[in-house]
Amino acid sequence: MGLALGLLLMLQQPIVVDGHIDTPQRMLDMKTDITARLSDGHVDVPRMKEGGLTAAFFSIWVDARYGPGTAFRRALNLIGAVRALADTNPEVELATSADQVRAAAGRGHVAALLGVEGGHAIENSLGKLDSLYRLGVRYMTLTWNNGNDWAGSSTDPQRDGGLTPLGRRVVRRMNELGMLVDVSHVSDRTFWDVMATSTRPVIASHSSCRALAHHPRNLSDDQLRAIAKNGGVVGINFYPVFLDEHFRHQYEELRRRLKPETDAIRARYRGRPGESAFAVDNFVGEQADSLDVPTIDRLVDHIEHAVQVMGIDHVGLGSDFDGISVLPRPLKDATSLPELVRALEARGYADEGLRKILGENFLRVLTAAP
Ligand SMILES: [Zn+2]
Repeated sequence: MGLALGLLLMLQQPIVVDGHIDTPQRMLDMKTDITARLSDGHVDVPRMKEGGLTAAFFSIWVDARYGPGTAFRRALNLIGAVRALADTNPEVELATSADQVRAAAGRGHVAALLGVEGGHAIENSLGKLDSLYRLGVRYMTLTWNNGNDWAGSSTDPQRDGGLTPLGRRVVRRMNELGMLVDVSHVSDRTFWDVMATSTRPVIASHSSCRALAHHPRNLSDDQLRAIAKNGGVVGINFYPVFLDEHFRHQYEELRRRLKPETDAIRARYRGRPGESAFAVDNFVGEQADSLDVPTIDRLVDHIEHAVQVMGIDHVGLGSDFDGISVLPRPLKDATSLPELVRALEARGYADEGLRKILGENFLRVLTAAP
């Protein structure tokens, strides 16, 4: 007996995996119900389905203001919000493996994967790291914009060094657990210490190419080559500030000009970092519309550069949806992914190669974990 036509059509759809979306803070702090179609932000379940976004790593982002005694609790609360979504909505399945992502896709559901952003979430405790793994977390970004006691950040001049002995123990423990080490945000010294320490494939869940836009959050060609050699994957970040230097200069100037307004928004949401970041992004995003926002072609330039340097097996998508104020034109949210697919097809990507970029490469490294 043949398969039903609907199932056949679904099986032909590529599995699309986004390496990084910042939606959980909305779900927790603003009690936003993402099973409904929302009028703002980039991601909700209806828009994931419409855009063909099969799976995403929901970022358990722990803001720098959380520290000893509060950071781990913040991570648990964010994880709780994602787990509650999956527990109460049959269309969303919590996934911890590639097989579970494929199974969810086969049922026409979306898969929620968990990645912690900001190693200070573990409060220097390998026991807490183990707990995060048991709760379903399958990667941890070693730092956010802030460095911590054991790893340096690319944007924290106070803490931009390499891994300490504890940092190396964290990496080795992640290797043992099968939690992917994520080098997005880390300092260059920490990056190279990770590559020397990790025995498993390493990812950069949401980072673009420094050769095309010189931002410390982006990866150099040497770093891209090292991740390829190690068997890992880089999810290219969609944020125009990381894609284009001309835009970044304009945007930085805009941020300086809008500082009184953004300070006022932060004051209004004091103690509620998720809401505050989202409100600031919304406000700045509207103002940035008058700037020379790069187009989807610029995003594809970064994807193509990474493919040229690393090979087709090591490049993926890491949109940073719901964590960024602007998207390359004309992308507007998760429903715009088919436009990215068409732009990639126009550059000659097709079939197996296209599927690898869209999701199969991330699924491979998930499978590679022990
Ligand atoms: Zn990030």
